Amino acid sequence: MLRDLQRIVEAVNQAPDFELALRTMVRQIKAALDTDSCTVYVADHDQQMFVMAATDGLEIRSETPIKIAFGEGVISLAARREEPLNFADASSHPAFIHIPEVIESQYKAMLAAPVIHRRRVLGVVVVQQHQARAFTSDEEAFVVTLAAQLAAVIAHAEAKGLLHQFKQSPWLETFKGHPAAPGVAMGEAYVVTPLARLSEVTPKRTDMPEHEVRRFRSAVARTRQELNELSERMKHQVAEESLAIFEVYHAMLDSASLGQEVEQTINEGWRAQTALKKVVEQLVEQFENLDDDYIRERASDVRDLGQRILSHLQDRSRRHLETPAKCILVADDVTATMLAELPHSDIIAMVGVRGSGNSHAAIMARSMGIPAVLGLADLDISELGGQTLIVDGYNGDVFVNPPLQVEQEYQLLADEELALRQKVMQGRHLPAETTDGVRVQLQLNVGLNTERDWLSELNVQGVGLYRTEIPFMMQERLPTEHEQVALYGQVLEQFRGAPVVMRTLDVGGDKPLPYLPMSEENPFLGWRGIRMTLDHPDIFLVQIRAMLRASVGRNNLRILLPMITSADEVDEAVRMIHQAYHEVAEELECSVDEQLYQPQIGVMIEVPAMIYQLHLVADKVDFFSVGTNDLTQYMLAVDRNNSRVADLYDTYHPAVLHALQQIALRCQELNKPLSVCGEFAGEPGGAILLLAMGYRNLSMNSYNIDRIRWIIRHIAAADLPELLRQVLAARSPQQVRKRVILALENAGLGGFVRAGA
Ligand code: PEP
Ligand code: MG
Repeated sequence: MLRDLQRIVEAVNQAPDFELALRTMVRQIKAALDTDSCTVYVADHDQQMFVMAATDGLEIRSETPIKIAFGEGVISLAARREEPLNFADASSHPAFIHIPEVIESQYKAMLAAPVIHRRRVLGVVVVQQHQARAFTSDEEAFVVTLAAQLAAVIAHAEAKGLLHQFKQSPWLETFKGHPAAPGVAMGEAYVVTPLARLSEVTPKRTDMPEHEVRRFRSAVARTRQELNELSERMKHQVAEESLAIFEVYHAMLDSASLGQEVEQTINEGWRAQTALKKVVEQLVEQFENLDDDYIRERASDVRDLGQRILSHLQDRSRRHLETPAKCILVADDVTATMLAELPHSDIIAMVGVRGSGNSHAAIMARSMGIPAVLGLADLDISELGGQTLIVDGYNGDVFVNPPLQVEQEYQLLADEELALRQKVMQGRHLPAETTDGVRVQLQLNVGLNTERDWLSELNVQGVGLYRTEIPFMMQERLPTEHEQVALYGQVLEQFRGAPVVMRTLDVGGDKPLPYLPMSEENPFLGWRGIRMTLDHPDIFLVQIRAMLRASVGRNNLRILLPMITSADEVDEAVRMIHQAYHEVAEELECSVDEQLYQPQIGVMIEVPAMIYQLHLVADKVDFFSVGTNDLTQYMLAVDRNNSRVADLYDTYHPAVLHALQQIALRCQELNKPLSVCGEFAGEPGGAILLLAMGYRNLSMNSYNIDRIRWIIRHIAAADLPELLRQVLAARSPQQVRKRVILALENAGLGGFVRAGA
């Protein structure tokens, strides 16, 4: 039997698609057990039904999929009990039901094994025989083992959206992808294809390499010009972090490697198009093989840039794109530049076959405030143009040509969304103050591009987190002190008069520097943040000196230290900051303290060990800032980027909330300013919980500022202690969520906490 087992597992794993995998499994189980039928049912939790997905042996009368409601039949019983049921004569069992569409009245013996993946029943495997007999314990173990194997297959298919063919009713075509930007929208699909595709280039040789190099250089120059035009067009339309992509593209074009490699390949005798294809495809492959989700997504940027250069090499220029009013942009790979080419006001949502929440398209969609679903691997877009789509960016669902009832339901939601967005914008100029007068400082988390006048536009009190590693990651080498001075100067200048918290380099973990390779078994527990920079005074001192120089005459710099675990790390970092300070003062020939502004220094609380050492470092630093993203991952021992444990990563976990509460209390005792710069501060529920704990300074990305202000303005601080008492007594993140949602709903803020928000 062990051999049968191995053979089936192998056959299922090698099946080219999901349906065939299921068909192979039922056929081979039936043969191995020498029984009369084997059937797999897949659970549709939305419709509360088990749907027959494959059978060998049952005779079916119906054309439409056979469904059994949750709660009915022996199948449901096995699912509910979460254990196999083995009946010599199932037909006499009270739970047994006859399915009218199946001719199975002759079956007596029945073995039903639930298919369970991470505690969720995904289906049931059923083996039946005409003759009454109990299946042996060996046979039972055999089916249970295969059900466990099937669990992974179904979970994978579900994640890839392949279950819709079994689940959906015939009139509703649903596709599941990654929820990449929140919101719902309904409209006509507008499919955009790239002007040129590298995959379609047939390799060709040349004996005129100089001519090909000239063609390549001129295509690059035209691409540059086109990028400038596109970024100019996008300016003032999207958030600053979104425009960074154009700088990334320029940096890639500047980078010696891309151009040099293409030219070198041309000189080896290949035509420009072929050389470009070879170099870009190799780069794409390198990116796609990386572990880090964010960096992996950059493969799409490289491909987009390559195809843009190719379109110029092929002398194809974009025909004028006429979009229908209020359309949904659909593409294989929605790219930032594609978006820049279209009239923005007409795009109400985006749908992409590739991509995830980390794609630039997702970042742009969020900053434009339109919903997006990406990574719809199963969606064939070739026939989609002109069809009606509903995009649910909360749940990652896309419905194609939905029936009227569904349309109406979503239209209502979309209208509510729009009204909500318009409403929160109206309150932009007002202070973030609760109904009973408690004031909160709202600050911005920023990345790269800082040209936009956020300070007046968004009504924020400066920058709560400037992640300096982003410009470091986009280069081919460490930026020089001079380059860093220019960069930091821009940020400090833009927020003149308001504090700017600049975090020292936080690389390592999931953010390696391409030119400083590190290979570690557990990078998140490894050489990251301050651990790396303290080992590299050369990098750290240069960065601090650059920050100090940039702050001359502006005096709004604050320095934040990431990943601090021990008091001696703070001592050492502060010592180096002072050293840099004196060096810069000396070089500038200005007297210390009088002319050179001494920045405040802060420590991030993101490693749990810090919670218990605040008193040890308080006299060395001026403020603390909580990084809830890492604090959650380290408190719960859950990798923040691992999708397998993504549902365990939850800042609403009562333990994390207790930690946040502790931090607030200790900082009050120590009389130290405290802020939060992790994602939790920008979530409606997170913000009110932090408020309840006494946090009065929240830093978040631009999209959330107006929403959180609105929420704060509709909450009474006096109601929060009771909410806090309840959530701190909760047993699970789910209980916490329920209470928080109720509190928001009671305050008339239910619209902010729709599914997944
Ligand atoms: C955090 O950990 O919460 C944080 C703000 O830093 P990052 O997400 O950059 O690690
Ligand atoms: Mg962090």
